[in-house]
Amino acid sequence: MEYKLESNTFSLVLNLDIFYSDNSTLKIILNSNGFCAQTFMRTDAKNFKTFISDIENLYNTLKGSAEITEPYGNQSIKFSADKTGHIFVSGHLSAISKGNFQSLEFKNSFDQTCLKSFVSSLKELKIGGKTVMIDKSKKYWTGDSADDISEYLRLYSEDDKIDVKPVICHSCGNDSFELRVDQNEDVIQVKCTNCGTKKILLDCDEFWEDAKPRLRKCSVCKSCKSYNVSVGFTRRENGSVKWVYIGNRCTNCGTLGSYLDWKINYEPTDEMEQNI
Ligand SMILES: [Zn+2]
Ligand SMILES: [Zn+2]
Repeated sequence: MEYKLESNTFSLVLNLDIFYSDNSTLKIILNSNGFCAQTFMRTDAKNFKTFISDIENLYNTLKGSAEITEPYGNQSIKFSADKTGHIFVSGHLSAISKGNFQSLEFKNSFDQTCLKSFVSSLKELKIGGKTVMIDKSKKYWTGDSADDISEYLRLYSEDDKIDVKPVICHSCGNDSFELRVDQNEDVIQVKCTNCGTKKILLDCDEFWEDAKPRLRKCSVCKSCKSYNVSVGFTRRENGSVKWVYIGNRCTNCGTLGSYLDWKINYEPTDEMEQNI
């Protein structure tokens, strides 16, 4: 994924590789009035996600600032603005190559309009309002047991405090299910593989009628239709649920994934979260 920003006197090219939520590499090529640098920054998806929303806000309101920083290390690129639509960029980049340390301090400004395509290309990184954090096409995580879904959802949601609860059949106590999912309407129904009891989870009832749910087959082993399922809740400060994550594990090959996650826009959420 490459993102470009260009004005008469300043250019910046960012190349982002997201392999894992806390281990991403950002390749940077920067030219400020003839002073240039080419280097790498370690970042994590959460930082980068914050940067995207900050720079979008800066572009729209000319208020605040947006910064790319390293969790360890001191490289940075910072954007700010004034009321008349000037964007200011400044920062510090450095690299060691073959034992030689080099660094660049830079400061420049350009018109707000130069940000437009940069910001809109960065926004494409988002899917359904949420930044893609794990490249699912390259990397499959597997778990030995249903309990591993908790750890997976913790990393996937990037919220250490995520509250994860297993889905257990109310009729027979079994913990594997067939899943019917519609990723457009954000609805999921589980069907116990032992006794056949069906349940539409959480608040999905409301949207079930308009949905076109499909029975899911594991995309890795291509044969299994049985999953362990957990739901993860991230919460607002007052304790109500802000975002719901469905975590699933193929009972045949152990592949972990999240077929669905969605935002909760209402309160209270007590009733909704007990419906599992
Ligand atoms: Zn059952
Ligand atoms: Zn599988």
